[in-house]
Amino acid sequence: MNGPVLKAPVLEVPVLKVSGLTVSVGRGARRHVAVQDVGFEVPAGGSLGVVGESGSGKSLTLRALMGLLPPGVRAERGVVELAGEPLPFTGPRARSARRGRLAMVFQDPLSGLDPVHTVGAQVAEVPRRVLGQPAVASRRRAVELLRLVGLPDPERRSQAFPHQLSGGMRQRVLIAMALASEPKVLLCDEPTTALDVTVQAQVLELLDDVRRRLGVAVVFVSHDLAVVRQVCDRLAVMYTGRLVETGRSADVLDHPAHPYTLGLLEAVVDLDDVDHMPVTIPGALPDLAHVPSGCPFHPRCRFASEDCAQGVPPFRYLNDRQWGAGEGSDGEGTDEEGSDGEGTDEEVTDGARGTACKYPERVTAG
Ligand code: ADP
Ligand code: MG
Repeated sequence: MNGPVLKAPVLEVPVLKVSGLTVSVGRGARRHVAVQDVGFEVPAGGSLGVVGESGSGKSLTLRALMGLLPPGVRAERGVVELAGEPLPFTGPRARSARRGRLAMVFQDPLSGLDPVHTVGAQVAEVPRRVLGQPAVASRRRAVELLRLVGLPDPERRSQAFPHQLSGGMRQRVLIAMALASEPKVLLCDEPTTALDVTVQAQVLELLDDVRRRLGVAVVFVSHDLAVVRQVCDRLAVMYTGRLVETGRSADVLDHPAHPYTLGLLEAVVDLDDVDHMPVTIPGALPDLAHVPSGCPFHPRCRFASEDCAQGVPPFRYLNDRQWGAGEGSDGEGTDEEGSDGEGTDEEVTDGARGTACKYPERVTAG
C-alpha cells in the first residue's frame, strides 16, 4: 500500500522550517487564499525544489519566506523558522532578522541589478552594508565572489555595467550578490528560466557547487522538472497554493504519489525517449476564487471519482513522512511502513482520512 520504504534520515535542526504558511491576496470580498498551509523543512546544505504550474503559488511562498510580499498580499498564518528562530513577516524586524542569513535570487537577472553602477560595486555594497566590512575589503571580496561564481576575468568584469554582460553572467552576478551576505539559505525563484539551455546548465551546476562547498541550503523554485531533478535532494509539489506531495526527488519523480505530479511528468519532453509523447494536463489551473472542494486537482484528474470532491485524500505525505509532516512531531525512526498506509500523518486536513485517491491504489495494486 505504500511507496518505497524510506530510511529515516539523520535528524538535525533544520536550517529552514516552514509550517502552516498561508498567504492571501486581495482585500475584503476579493480576498483569496493563494498559499494554503504550506510546510517543509530544509537541512543545512540541503536542497528543496518547489515545482508546479505557473500560478500555483511558488513565488508567493518564497516571497513570504523572504518577508517581501507585494502590496495587497498578506501572510495570514504560519511560522518560518531560521535555525530555530521564528522570523516575522512584516515590521522592522522582518528585514533585520533575515539580513545576512536568508538571500533570494530572482528570475529576471536585469531587474535585480542597478544599471548605473558597475557589477563589482553592487556586489561590494552587500558585505559593506550587511556585514559592516570596510570599503576596500568589500571590493576585494566582491572580486572573490565573482570568481567563485565563475565569472571569467573577474577583476576586469567587476568594472562592467550590467548591460555589458550576457544574461548568464548577470545571473552569476546576482548569485554572487546573494552569497555576499553569507546566507545560510538561498532562495532561488526560477533563476534559470530567462537563460538559454547551456547557460542554464552552468548556472545549475554553480548552485549545486555553492551548496556543496559552502553548505548553503537552497530552495529552488521551478516549473521545470528536469531542472529540479538535477539540483534538488527533495521536492515539494504545489497545486493551487497547496502542497500535494513532498519527498525525496528520486521517489517523487520515479514513483509520483499524486496524479498531479504524474501529470507534470507526463508533460515533460524526454529527449532520450523519442517514443514518449508529452501529454499536457487537460484543463487549466482554477481561479483562486473557485478552487474545487476536496482534492483541488480532481476536475482535471483522469483517476478522479466522486469521493475526490468530498475530502482531500490522505496522500499528501505518501512519498515522505519526514518532510513537512512536521507540526511538532518529527517522527524520528518511528516511520514503520505498514498498517493502513496512512501512517501517523497528523496534518491530513478536512477530516479526509479514509478518502482514497484511486491513483496510488491503482499503482500499488498493479
Ligand atoms: P507561481 O510563482 O507558482 O507561478 P505565484 O506565487 O506568482 O505563482 O502566484 C500565485 C497566485 O497568486 C496566482 O493566482 C497569482 O495571480 C496570485 N498573485 C501573485 N502575485 C499577486 C499580487 N501581487 N497580487 C494579487 N495576486 C497575486
Ligand atoms: Mg513564479
